Amino acid sequence: MEWPNGAGFAAAITFDMDADSLIHAADPAGWQRPYPISMGQYGPTVAIPRILETYRRLGLRQTFFIPGWCVKTYPRAVEEILEGGHEIGCHGWIHENPAARSLAEQGEDLDRAIEALAAFSGTRPRGYRAPVYQLTNDTPGLLADRGFAYDSSMMADDDPYALDLGGRSLIEIPPHWGIDDWPPFAHYAEIGYMMPVRGPTEGLAPFFEEFAAAKADAGLWHAVWHPFLTGRRARWQVVERWLETALTEGAWFATLGEIADHAETLRRAGRLRSIAFPTYAERQE
Ligand SMILES: [Zn+2]
Repeated sequence: MEWPNGAGFAAAITFDMDADSLIHAADPAGWQRPYPISMGQYGPTVAIPRILETYRRLGLRQTFFIPGWCVKTYPRAVEEILEGGHEIGCHGWIHENPAARSLAEQGEDLDRAIEALAAFSGTRPRGYRAPVYQLTNDTPGLLADRGFAYDSSMMADDDPYALDLGGRSLIEIPPHWGIDDWPPFAHYAEIGYMMPVRGPTEGLAPFFEEFAAAKADAGLWHAVWHPFLTGRRARWQVVERWLETALTEGAWFATLGEIADHAETLRRAGRLRSIAFPTYAERQE
């Protein structure tokens, strides 16, 4: 892909600051579960200040996806993120599964989340990542209705592409499970997610291989990390050491909003892959 200012490739770390929203969304009695709540709380209270300090020292501005409920529950973390000049994207209201919500409910969840972010920061989010990537065929249209520039929940390419919604479009910045830190680092039995937890160097190595591959291919590398996972002490020390080298390798480190704006410029010039969405207009037999 082409990148601005002669950069050889592009890179972005995204953090999804789910905090303990997951346990409340998964279990009506979740508020009575101190252990998973404490695991999630580590994100906004301990990991976010640590991550932001690294970004400040290295001069990085990056993207954080935050559920609306977390904005209200952890305002100090959100203030610190905004003070650092970072982008905040929408990540649902309370990490509800959009695929389990009606169309009307999905719209209400989005509006509630947008309102929480806008009331706090003064700006509406331009980017969206569906909780657990579970968007529906309706979600891109709901996002376009609300002025979003991009989604980051689908996996049809390595690099950004456009969703042709029929007269409207949305930029897609595709994640995949190989750049998500749940498989190496999450063990969350309460929501049925039980993986063997990798050591910091072993668990992070695949992300760094992905970075080298993006460099070789002039592509986009991005990571889908979570403060309560990769923001843990030993893992973050590995990331910090890696970043100090990675920043010298000719990548355009940007927010997903900036990357989406660049992709939109390419789309308008006819130089970005565009795919019709939804993939299937009707049920397949
Ligand atoms: Zn999430």
